[in-house]
Amino acid sequence: MDLGILGKRALVCASSKGLGLGCAEALAEAGVDLVMNARTQATLDEAVDSIRSRFNVSVTGVAADITSEAGRMEVLDAAGQIDILVTNAGGPPPGLWSDWDRDDFIAALDANMLTPIALMKAVLPAMMDRGWGRVVNITSQSVKAPIPALGLSNAARTGLTGYVAGTARQVAPAGVTINNLLPGIHATDRAVSLDTGVSEGQGISMDEARAQREATIPARRYGTRQEFGAACAFLCSQHAGFIVGQNILLDGGATNATI
Ligand code: NAP
Repeated sequence: MDLGILGKRALVCASSKGLGLGCAEALAEAGVDLVMNARTQATLDEAVDSIRSRFNVSVTGVAADITSEAGRMEVLDAAGQIDILVTNAGGPPPGLWSDWDRDDFIAALDANMLTPIALMKAVLPAMMDRGWGRVVNITSQSVKAPIPALGLSNAARTGLTGYVAGTARQVAPAGVTINNLLPGIHATDRAVSLDTGVSEGQGISMDEARAQREATIPARRYGTRQEFGAACAFLCSQHAGFIVGQNILLDGGATNATI
């Protein structure tokens, strides 16, 4: 399918690995020029080079912490005028509801709620002036159904979801859509780190931990970054202009809900 976004320009945050990289690759395949970001220069350079060598698009990498104000300024300066924004950052650490104090919540809110909100506030006015824009926020299945060990994520991402629900309806008249993609378990470094938590917590092997988590998914496997990226690129396409303020689960059926 021709996504109709050849020549558009996208900022994909936290995109040297995992789900962000999947989104960057799928947008590049659709002919979108990219600004990519991550904190670690070496892995970011590798990802930028790999995309440049496979797709005929321009790619700029900006090594910066997207959750800091200085990092965001650097990334937004390099990005300039963009048509597509994909927000992403690392997820908060797992733990128990009784573990976290105010500082832990502030850090999670900063990274997974206030950072995407700041990015949207920075780029939405110019998108609205031009009458076209796409924003996709990578959140989590924890927004639909809480994950007990990820209370910080449950809290911060639900706050972002409330903001998007209201804002998406206010910018849609100007041709700009905002939607959230909600990953279930995908085969990325983040999944390995959560498997490690299960393995260490229960004294079982990594293979057993993964098998245990795969058994909770009706599709009986983890998702791939390519599947995730394809969904993101579709939401950024010309065909998705009527999809506004939605929360789309990509979880292999793991969230047991009718709607
Ligand atoms: P990942 O494989 O660990 O990749 C994370 C990417 O983000 C890397 O490129 C990392 O590079 C970059 N990054 C992390 N923190 C950053 C920051 N502060 N500033 C800029 N770049 C940053 O993670 P993932 O699995 O793709 O997960 C992406 C998001 O989806 C996370 O918020 C995660 O919690 C959420 N999620 C993932 C799953 C899953 O199963 N994978 C499920 C639900 C939700 P550097 O480390 O070099 O910065």
